[in-house]
Amino acid sequence: MSPRAASKGAAPGSLRIGVDVGGTKIEAIAIDADGREQARRRIASPSHDYREIVDAVRAIVADLETECGQMARVGIGTPGAVSPASGLIKNANSTQLNGRRFVADLAQALGREVRVENDANCFALSEATDGAGAGHRLVFGVILGTGCGGGIVDHGRVRVGPNAIAGEWGHNEMPSRTEPGLPDTRCYCGRRRCIETFVSGPGLAADHRRDAPSGASATLDAAAIATLARAGDPDAVATMARFYERLAAALATVINVLDPDVVVLGGGLSNIEPICDEVLARLPAHVFSDTLATPVVRNRHGDSSGVRGAAWLWPA
Ligand SMILES: [Zn+2]
Repeated sequence: MSPRAASKGAAPGSLRIGVDVGGTKIEAIAIDADGREQARRRIASPSHDYREIVDAVRAIVADLETECGQMARVGIGTPGAVSPASGLIKNANSTQLNGRRFVADLAQALGREVRVENDANCFALSEATDGAGAGHRLVFGVILGTGCGGGIVDHGRVRVGPNAIAGEWGHNEMPSRTEPGLPDTRCYCGRRRCIETFVSGPGLAADHRRDAPSGASATLDAAAIATLARAGDPDAVATMARFYERLAAALATVINVLDPDVVVLGGGLSNIEPICDEVLARLPAHVFSDTLATPVVRNRHGDSSGVRGAAWLWPA
């Protein structure tokens, strides 16, 4: 049996429930076979207690099934990944999940097979299935939020890989060819100059503090800096220019290796209005090709992509 899909009884129907287990909230959606939303729930995540998280997922699934009047196939999106070697969760920023048999425990609690996948992979799957990447064979989905995740969907299926890290570009080193003076950032993963420390929301805000260390800039988050840049604030304009250039340089390393048919941007930073145009304008200088035919687009499903992708872990 795959460590990623444990079973204990089964009663599949056409209803799919996707659950996104985040650090601060648990969100769930029930969709029909055509992807139409049937019901939705959102609760605060039980803090720090692993058994409470499993119980909360069980309760939220039961609640949705009662409302919809049928049993569902259940997919779960989670930070981190299910280790192919051990079946345990690893790399999760919700650390109470790390080292747990989350798939098996959920299967037992729910009395059926469940599928569990990294939340960035769920995002990519959602957008590839019926979102901004629909109709494209190879989709690279990027989440630019509190962290920097990524997922690869090929022919409608998530690429996982033997280490369960496919798409995790955020902990590669930021290319510095066009920026020799790149700041020597430290990442929580223990490495230096990780892409995530530059193109995540906190990374962008930290960069602004480094370069414009006035009292006022110390409290600005990424959205506020982007707003200031649109208003013409020179420090914010400079910060955003560095952000776009670094994002383009980092994405180019993925495009050079994977050559995806489309790149879909998600996470809070994807809401910055000019991000797609700014990145597209800068990509050709970094990509090893005479022309650039790769669309870079904003996601379609927004905050719902995580739960929708979790539901689509059971493909049509
Ligand atoms: Zn890192």
